[in-house]
Amino acid sequence: MVSWEFMIEAGAGSGAPVSDGAAASADDGSVPPEEIAAGFRVDPLTGTWVVLVQERQHRPNLPTTGCPFCPGGLEAPEPYDVRWFVNRWPALPDGRAEVVLFSPEHDQSLGSLDLAQLRRVIALWAERTRVLGGRRDVEYVLLFENRGAEVGATIAHPHGQVYAFSRVPPAALAELGQQGCPVCSELAGEGQPGPSHQRRLVAEAPGWQAWAAWAPSYPYELVLATDRHIGDLVSAEDVHEGLARVLKQSLGALDLLFDEPMPYMLWCHQRPAKGGPWPSAHLHFHIAPTHRAPGVARYVASGELGSGVMFNPVDPEAAATRLRAAAARLPEI
Ligand SMILES: [Zn+2]
Ligand SMILES: [Zn+2]
Ligand SMILES: [Zn+2]
Repeated sequence: MVSWEFMIEAGAGSGAPVSDGAAASADDGSVPPEEIAAGFRVDPLTGTWVVLVQERQHRPNLPTTGCPFCPGGLEAPEPYDVRWFVNRWPALPDGRAEVVLFSPEHDQSLGSLDLAQLRRVIALWAERTRVLGGRRDVEYVLLFENRGAEVGATIAHPHGQVYAFSRVPPAALAELGQQGCPVCSELAGEGQPGPSHQRRLVAEAPGWQAWAAWAPSYPYELVLATDRHIGDLVSAEDVHEGLARVLKQSLGALDLLFDEPMPYMLWCHQRPAKGGPWPSAHLHFHIAPTHRAPGVARYVASGELGSGVMFNPVDPEAAATRLRAAAARLPEI
């Protein structure tokens, strides 16, 4: 029987519920009518942002003829190494939702790619960040991946997505609004998360570290960040190789943890595209694996949604120990 540990420190992190809807609104506090017409709403009770994407309900759960992402398929008619295209069922309008294909090989996964292919994915992530961030109607570029049918990936072919938001979204803004840089504090062993940082370390590569989150919402949740205070992928080409290595170690360890492909949600937080230098922005990735035991999903329950407090059955230091043991079984990169 696993004991459920209440991690009161969770409130200090980014997992706290968004209670201030002002960031989602125009200067006078209201959402412009054209945005409401486009499906953007702010819940008056909670301040939560919601985008209504009714059309997506009509998308097929599974393609009927072959894989659309394999070379020669509907979305990839020509041979490719990596590829991006505008999502046919976009969650955001005006070409601001894209799909990124990680590999032409259907049976690969992001973590199984060789380093050269991972470098191509990272270079494409940086390019889409730069190009989409350069648009007048884009303030924030979110790179992410849903891996596994359990987290809604309808096509098994390795792919991720990009959302280009017209405003900096609440989860990113909550991190950016903190005093100083919480990532640098963690790395320097300062402040609350600091003292146990080394014990939560899971993987290292030149310029990067991966560690079990101090106050994880999901068991085995990881943070990957650059050693140096770098704002985004575009300005960090010299650490792309290290990112490829630390991603491969982290995702490989997660797949070996229960000896089954780990379903996960992965996203990248980086500097907003507009609004000044954002001095607190520190490039990092979050990986939220959804299994807490072999084949057993961790669901966010009503006590958690209702309170805004997450309850986690796995101590992050223990999670790091298990993930380090799994990483030690990986072949040499
Ligand atoms: Zn495929
Ligand atoms: Zn920093
Ligand atoms: Zn973050």
